[in-house]
Amino acid sequence: SGRWALHGKTALVTGGTRGIGRAVVEELAALGAAVHTCSRKEEELGERIKEWEARGFRVTGSVCDLSVRDQRERLIREVADRFSGKLNILVNNVGTNIRKPTTEFSAEEYSFVMATNLESAYHLCQIAHPLLKSSGSGSIVFISSVCGVVAVFSGTLYAMTKGAINQLTKNLACEWARDNIRANSVGPWYIRTSLTEKLLENKAFEEQVVSRTPLGRVGEPGEISALVAFLCMPGSTYITGQTISVDGGMSVNGFY
Ligand code: NDP
Repeated sequence: SGRWALHGKTALVTGGTRGIGRAVVEELAALGAAVHTCSRKEEELGERIKEWEARGFRVTGSVCDLSVRDQRERLIREVADRFSGKLNILVNNVGTNIRKPTTEFSAEEYSFVMATNLESAYHLCQIAHPLLKSSGSGSIVFISSVCGVVAVFSGTLYAMTKGAINQLTKNLACEWARDNIRANSVGPWYIRTSLTEKLLENKAFEEQVVSRTPLGRVGEPGEISALVAFLCMPGSTYITGQTISVDGGMSVNGFY
């Protein structure tokens, strides 16, 4: 039945050309959703869309930089045009990190990380709200991080943005429940993507990460996209306001 599918649903997945976002685009499209995505690099976006068309997926895309306010507004106008004003699924995936000690952050770096990770997700929710409401059944999923749940060495500002995303999840779940819009947050631990590949090439670093991870390995993008898809399906319609870690057990590991 339609319980485990997304036929007839429309979705916006931000940052879909690589990593977790790419896996989410492919997961939702394979389950029957019509998907719109975006990224900053026109050529890479064009290549992906060709691949997806060849696989029979219904995916379109816009080139935009989501750290910039008017580009977010343009993106939502394009989404409204493509889906006739109705959006069932918003996956706020875009995020970045600058790895350095707190004492070394400049004001510009602070603004860049906040704009990319937090302000963009908040603002996209604001301007997508009418489309999510019009769909009759909306699901917002944030790609957060276990860094927003427990303190880890990935950086304090990054963790602050993810912690704020987790609270945004709880508040929107309550504020927009009357519009039949749910909001949930997915918190990955280390996942092999273009964001982490340089770090994980360092085997001593990977060993350090894995040693704290009960399942004894880092994760793959498809292990995140599976949960994202479930949170958008009719099978999860009573789940809202939750932050779910997908972390091989890392965040519950006191000292094993
Ligand atoms: P990647 O860097 O591999 O992919 C990011 C995607 O977002 C790309 O498609 C990129 O395309 C796009 N993107 C980045 N910045 C912008 C922007 N300003 N405007 C539009 N598009 C943008 O990242 P991951 O897949 O690893 O991470 C995705 C999310 O998951 C992030 O929020 C991250 O914090 C979170 N996460 C990742 C973990 C990991 O271990 N990988 C762990 C925990 C959380 P382009 O560069 O062309 O714009």
